[in-house]
Amino acid sequence: MKKGNKLGIVVPCYNEEEVLKDTKNKLSNLIDELIRKKKISKDSFIMFVNDGSKDKTWQLISEFNKKDKYVYGLNLAANVGHQKALLAGLIKAAELCDMSVSIDADLQDDINVIEEMIDKYQNGCDIVYGVRSNRDKDSFFKKHTALGFYKIMSIMGTNTIYNHADFRLMSKRSMEELAKYKERNLFLRGIIPLLGYKTDCVHYKRLERLAGKSKYSLKKMVSFAIEGITSFSIKPITLIGILGLIIILFSIGFVIYSIVNYFLGNVVSGWASLFCSLWFLGGVQLLSIGIIGEYIGKIYIETKERPRYNIESFLDKKTNKNK
Ligand code: UDP
Ligand code: MG
Repeated sequence: MKKGNKLGIVVPCYNEEEVLKDTKNKLSNLIDELIRKKKISKDSFIMFVNDGSKDKTWQLISEFNKKDKYVYGLNLAANVGHQKALLAGLIKAAELCDMSVSIDADLQDDINVIEEMIDKYQNGCDIVYGVRSNRDKDSFFKKHTALGFYKIMSIMGTNTIYNHADFRLMSKRSMEELAKYKERNLFLRGIIPLLGYKTDCVHYKRLERLAGKSKYSLKKMVSFAIEGITSFSIKPITLIGILGLIIILFSIGFVIYSIVNYFLGNVVSGWASLFCSLWFLGGVQLLSIGIIGEYIGKIYIETKERPRYNIESFLDKKTNKNK
């Protein structure tokens, strides 16, 4: 049996006025084409989620909503970050469509594979991951930090799809399941594999940003990586314990060595090495407390159960002139 085929493309946008028009046109053309090929229903839509942008992003989205029959707009009351903005869009989309495709506003991910994603969905997959097969267009730095990130994630025991960002198709029921994960420390790439439905991948080449600048500075990337690890794995705390054990065994060995030397009449010399080890251990202790503190901070944030985002307004077909 053919599954429901109303598509919602969810696009989180933060200060994207430079790319938005281009992105809207490309996605509208794609929807036209997919409707022509009878892959999706005529009431499919593009939902731009404005994540508290400071530029004209929301004005543009409202204009598009009036003129373009496919464009919906979800306006968040404040900037909550990419992951939460995307979640807001997906939870809204779960009410409105049979399947969603999430994609970044800069269209660095290839929209031509969306058709293949839909075919896989029709063949029984609930989640289809877009996987980058090359990163030629990324800078050397971006490429290597990103790859290092996936490696560290897998060493730390978090199940993420290698080279997959947030470009993916999700069925209605997988979006509904996702809505049940109530955490504030949100790392979607780690949660979605936990849903456990049948999944598949499509491969594509990562392109350059259409226009505008990356919103992920080094600082944001590092905090994203820490977020990803500490939200999914307690391995770092286990490693601290193991490190502590090794240091204790090492110091016992050192005590035995000193006693033997004392009886042999060799006075232990070397203040320098003593101080080095003192500083080293001080550092290890502070680092360990810091890592544990990171988890306690997370518990603190989760226990407050604050809302993850706040919706200011929503524009759908009703406000559209050519509906
Ligand atoms: N974004 C967002 N909120 C933020 C930062 C970014 O919604 O606080 C959106 C942004 O508009 C884009 C996506 O998240 O659609 C990914 O951002 P970007 O392209 O800057 O990241 P990169 O591709 O460089 O990792
Ligand atoms: Mg990008």
